[in-house]
Amino acid sequence: MLIPVRCFTCGNLIADKYDDYQNRIKAGEEPVKVLDSLGLKRYCCRRMMLTTVETMQQIIPFYEAIQRRYLEVQSELE
Ligand SMILES: [Zn+2]
Repeated sequence: MLIPVRCFTCGNLIADKYDDYQNRIKAGEEPVKVLDSLGLKRYCCRRMMLTTVETMQQIIPFYEAIQRRYLEVQSELE
């Protein structure tokens, strides 16, 4: 799932901070310090960052396989 644009609970804009958050976490910074520096004080907004799982890269291979199979079927029908 993609990051929601706004916090589900309070409506605070969070999507613009997600890339920065992910990059800094991958660089090895502690999540609590990154969230504080991004100005996410409320726990509803913090949970949005902490609990979002990017599934797009896991889903794409299935769509590629469906597309390949579709092309195989189309070529067999011709
Ligand atoms: Zn919030």
